[in-house]
Amino acid sequence: MNDAPGPSRGSSTERALVSVVLPVFNEREAVEPLAAAVARSVATAGADWELIFVNDGSTDGSALVMDRLAAGESRVRVLHLTRNFGHQAAVQAGMAHAHGNAVVVMDADMQDDPASIGRFLEKWREGYDVVYAVRTGRKESAPKRFLFFAFYRVLNHLVKVPMPADAGNFGLVDRRVALEIRSLLDRDRYYAGLRNWVGFRQVGVEVERGPRYDSAPRVTLLGLFRLAKSAIFSFSTFPLTVFYLIGSLSLVVFVGLACFTLYHKLFTGLAIPGWTSITMATSFFGAMNALGIAVLGEYVTRIYEQVRARPLYLVERRVNFPDDPVSS
Ligand code: UDP
Ligand code: MG
Repeated sequence: MNDAPGPSRGSSTERALVSVVLPVFNEREAVEPLAAAVARSVATAGADWELIFVNDGSTDGSALVMDRLAAGESRVRVLHLTRNFGHQAAVQAGMAHAHGNAVVVMDADMQDDPASIGRFLEKWREGYDVVYAVRTGRKESAPKRFLFFAFYRVLNHLVKVPMPADAGNFGLVDRRVALEIRSLLDRDRYYAGLRNWVGFRQVGVEVERGPRYDSAPRVTLLGLFRLAKSAIFSFSTFPLTVFYLIGSLSLVVFVGLACFTLYHKLFTGLAIPGWTSITMATSFFGAMNALGIAVLGEYVTRIYEQVRARPLYLVERRVNFPDDPVSS
């Protein structure tokens, strides 16, 4: 884009500060090498950095590793949540504590390559406000890869604001965008969707998705399924409106069946007690009703969550946050 980068994007007079948000749930082995690689990558790109580790209720000693790192380096900040609140909540917690001119969100399992941050920064300095990674070369199993592929395509057909395919959390947002995203009141959060929804100048950068350093994903398949539901139900009302279509189709089927039965009843005398048609029709309409109620339930649950408005996460302890009087 043509806009000249402002001083906050790292002109000759001022170095930009880049916050990197890293949600951590039992990633003990990855924390240290990742911190080093990320810091190196941002520094090489000519910017200052702060790392914001969000300890999402780890039980494997990750907390100690992060605290030790923070004790030796004040730019490493750690937010300890009171329990495991989930990946999306951890990202929100990190965003809410970021001070940078730009905020990078990435996984802490080595799947997102720290070296790509330099390319994000380049695009940001060109004037883009959102730079997201388009993931290529996924290393997951073939069925999982297929599910991801299908998910992004289905999602794109359902949502009102088109979403880029294969773009997950990994990416950079300008401070302005970070402020907008973190103040969105959605309880049911799908970060990639919210980042897309806010608009601004967005661009995708192809990034190879690495393998996990260990082979045990912390987000379970059920967790991914829930996230997919969040993405669909909080960004699309199509599942609800599709019942107009199903209702209309059911009506056509019903009218057809009624005409057929009445015709034989009144004119041909071939109307045998219609066990088959009755069974089929009732089970069909029964299934449609149940499906409709289930879809309604998805939205009602979300309304319930939103109305209760509990906080998304609670913080137990903050380490190295400059604006926090109780930080150790
Ligand atoms: N994570 C988290 N809380 C959770 C589950 C995961 O903070 O309840 C973190 C995890 O440590 C990792 C990131 O979220 O840094 C992505 O998790 P994972 O690699 O399991 O997700 P996938 O790559 O399979 O989507
Ligand atoms: Mg991962």
